[in-house]
Amino acid sequence: MAHETKRTRVMIVEDEGIIAMDIKRTLMDFGYTVTSVSASADQAIKRAQTDRPDVVLMDVVLDGQMDGIEAAAMIRTSVGTPVIFLTSYSDEYILERAKITEPFGYLLKPFRDRELYTTIEMALYKDQIQRELRQSHKWFSTTLMSIGDGVITTDAVGRVTFINKAAAKMACLEEGEVLGLPIGQLITLKDEAAIEIADGLSEDVLIPIIASSTHDKDPVSLSDHLLITDTGKAIPVSVTTASIQDDKGNVLGVAISFKDHTRRKQLEEQLRHMVLTDSMTELNNRRGFYILAEHQLKLAKRFNKEIAIVFIDVDGLKRINDTLGHLAGDKAIIDTACILRETFRQSDIIGRIGGDEFVVLITELFGITEDVVTQRLLNATIVFNSQKCSPYTISLSIGFVLYRPESDLTIDALMRAADQLMYEHKARKRNNDSEIRSDQHEK
Ligand code: GH3
Ligand code: MG
Repeated sequence: MAHETKRTRVMIVEDEGIIAMDIKRTLMDFGYTVTSVSASADQAIKRAQTDRPDVVLMDVVLDGQMDGIEAAAMIRTSVGTPVIFLTSYSDEYILERAKITEPFGYLLKPFRDRELYTTIEMALYKDQIQRELRQSHKWFSTTLMSIGDGVITTDAVGRVTFINKAAAKMACLEEGEVLGLPIGQLITLKDEAAIEIADGLSEDVLIPIIASSTHDKDPVSLSDHLLITDTGKAIPVSVTTASIQDDKGNVLGVAISFKDHTRRKQLEEQLRHMVLTDSMTELNNRRGFYILAEHQLKLAKRFNKEIAIVFIDVDGLKRINDTLGHLAGDKAIIDTACILRETFRQSDIIGRIGGDEFVVLITELFGITEDVVTQRLLNATIVFNSQKCSPYTISLSIGFVLYRPESDLTIDALMRAADQLMYEHKARKRNNDSEIRSDQHEK
């Protein structure tokens, strides 16, 4: 079966009938199909819209109100067909005007048949390449627009040339409002670790990265950074920058992509909280307390500072459980946590390290002694018990140990010593209670 290739369809716009017929014959000899021959701009526009030719041969000078250049512009915008101008003059002014219609070629009358053929083939080739370019541009921009990562491109001096939806959303920006603006006016990028050290006064690293990307052509990747919007919102991100180069290696701009780690950080924080916090009292659990206490011990050693460990155990919790039920016992533990929070400073570290065992690390001792702590806790329990809001009273036994930086005691050793002192305190209280009871019995 013979395979028929699709013939190229050419439209002619020429108001001189003899020339038009001559061109038509030549085109048909070359194997083209002539869709129509129009003598005026109006007619040409209509025919182009109905016939949709592959290419238009357009005489620049036409009878009527509209000339060939205007007609070409209308055809180009309405149906996108490439136009080749036929002109008798290589007039500068005409060529300048024609330029804005992005012509695909000029043929200076009179022209040879071969010239006509090559100009048409070149125009078709150019049109094909332009279509492919537009398509791949659309393909890439749609892909970039729809991906979850934020992407911003800038020119070589850092002015925004493209921003995708994710980046616009992340940085609270409107795409239309930021194109052409220096990126440094819109966002800054800071190293999380540097923020911690410099207490928020760390330097922006985005402009230096863009500047270095224009010299150093290898991509740069950074993790654990904060993208800071012009409203001050900080988003945890990782960033990759890469220079965009032409085929000679000249840097045209920089592509910056941001991965938003907000959700990951939230999950990490939730996990950290779960692992280090006692769910019943929301105090540090044993692991959480140890991590913070070890850190404080190091600081105390480095700054030659005294700190203290207070061990606290609820008296008679079993009895509360046995007489009032386990829920009441739970409530007594929660009440004890409240008493401790109210008694100690926010900077002190409080943990529930066992059933009814609590421990506090006092970070600043100015004027705080064992007696002061004992008295404050006693007062707090008296206030709690006097409120008569619960069916039980709370009584605490405590052990207080001072840490001197010249000693080499560990947290474990300090806790053991405080625990021992707490038991001695509890034992003293039991003795006192039994003495009081036997006194009352004898009386
Ligand atoms: P002591 O005066 O010697 O401290 O005696 P106690 O009754 O408080 O008992 P002890 O400190 O030796 O042991 C703690 C008890 O607290 C053991 C357990 O019955 C109870 N307990 C531990 N954890 C919980 C808890 O989460 N909820 C409740 N309701 N009770 C607990
Ligand atoms: Mg107890």
